[in-house]
Amino acid sequence: MTSNSATDQRLMPGQRVSDWGRMKYANVANIARPQTEDDLRAILAHAKEHDLKISVRGIGHNTVGQSIVDNGIMIDMMAMNQIIELNEQAKTLRVQAGATWAQLTPLLEQKRLSLSTKQEFNIFSVGGSLAANIHGKSIDYAALITHVKSFRILTADGEIIEASREHNYALFRAAIGGWGLLGIVVDVTFQLIDDRIVEKSEVVYMKREPLLDAYRERIQRDPAATPLCYGFLDTSFDNGYYLTYRYLESGETYSLDELKRDETHPLVVDILVWLQRRCAFVRRKAFNLTWATSGNPDKTLLSRRLLLWDKPPKAFNDLLLQKYYLPLDRFQGFLGKAQTIFQRYEKDIKLMMLHFRFQPANNEAMLASLQQEAMCFFPVYLAEKDDANWVAVYEKVSHELVEEVLAHGGSFYLTFVPATLDQVRRAFPHWNDFVETKRRYDPEERFTSLFYENLRAG
Ligand SMILES: Cc1cc2nc3c(=O)[nH]c(=O)nc-3n(C[C@H](O)[C@H](O)[C@H](O)COP(=O)(O)OP(=O)(O)OC[C@H]3O[C@@H](n4cnc5c(N)ncnc54)[C@H](O)[C@@H]3O)c2cc1C
Repeated sequence: MTSNSATDQRLMPGQRVSDWGRMKYANVANIARPQTEDDLRAILAHAKEHDLKISVRGIGHNTVGQSIVDNGIMIDMMAMNQIIELNEQAKTLRVQAGATWAQLTPLLEQKRLSLSTKQEFNIFSVGGSLAANIHGKSIDYAALITHVKSFRILTADGEIIEASREHNYALFRAAIGGWGLLGIVVDVTFQLIDDRIVEKSEVVYMKREPLLDAYRERIQRDPAATPLCYGFLDTSFDNGYYLTYRYLESGETYSLDELKRDETHPLVVDILVWLQRRCAFVRRKAFNLTWATSGNPDKTLLSRRLLLWDKPPKAFNDLLLQKYYLPLDRFQGFLGKAQTIFQRYEKDIKLMMLHFRFQPANNEAMLASLQQEAMCFFPVYLAEKDDANWVAVYEKVSHELVEEVLAHGGSFYLTFVPATLDQVRRAFPHWNDFVETKRRYDPEERFTSLFYENLRAG
């Protein structure tokens, strides 16, 4: 390595690695754990000198090989996790890319501040969330990009540059939601929001069709006061329910200690999933159980905004999930088709649950999943991840679902859905601009992944 010995220690021997999806594996040449910007530059120089590709990773919770590549260096960013600056007046936070929401949430909650958009769990890294341009459960904030002010990124030429709406805007739009393919994000500056408290206010149970009509009316009725409104369908698609949360009025006081997180205990989920895997009767009845425990609004405890689960239950490690986005007026039609696909494969592909929610539009990122506001259809699978036969059927089902989504004018979330290049091109109208921008900043395609290599192979 062309660097000093301290940096050498950041470059470990490679091994066979995967990601949360455990469907794709790579034999990486090295694993690097940088601690400083100089480490990062030295690792990049080493990769260039030895003509090695680079993949970047946070906690590795993607599904189709976005953070690994054969014979490349996998850069694990989790040691670069410093909080650089919290400006309470301006409500901004600058933080290194390896930090997780678990580090940031307690700090921000004390100041009654929050990120606008987070996943449902606390475990994810800032860099991984930026590169996926994540969306949250709330219906009043769109994808993460809306509250990113700027980031610093190490590009293939060895420079760390800033990207924002004022500087290097094409890079800003490509790297957010760009799966680590533009360079290594070193730190990010977010615009924060006030951490408002929400309270469960309605639980509505109906047959599927009237339920979805009622849901659509509900999300349009009072969006400013309704931060969360999401629902579940039973896995035979017949019945469902939705939950609504309202913001506490300003003036309603609370202390952090008295607030309880509104979440099912992870152990309960673990036991339920274990039973669902083994028993068709429990699979059929699981929905009724979640409905029965969804809570009488009068008795529901308060829940902190946007973050409903500190940690995923263990059972989540063996599940797979997907997100498909449909135009509001085509959602019902799509569901009928999805139901037929799942019925055809029900012997092999077992569903744990079906989730739906409204997703506000934001198409600023080049690879934005959403060109318009949409309904998100979110199947959760009782996966058999390491079984190649099961994975082959799963990929077939995914392919058919994607075709139906595209036929209904929709798109999908790249983190979860194994799709072909042709499907990606049809779902993401700016794919070509994205590849062009990548090649401008990374002409040798140093930054790559199995996900990207598989797409390039067609
Ligand atoms: C159980 C579960 C629940 C989820 N819920 C949601 C949800 O509610 N909403 C949602 O939007 N998503 C959700 N996701 C998807 C998740 O947000 C993304 O997969 C996210 O990228 C994971 O972050 P990570 O730290 O694991 O990143 P990784 O999986 O490690 O990396 C993801 C991508 O980010 C890139 N990357 C990581 N760090 C950097 C960096 N510093 N610079 C440049 N590129 C980088 C990697 O190269 C890779 O392409 C969920 C995933 C799981 C498994």
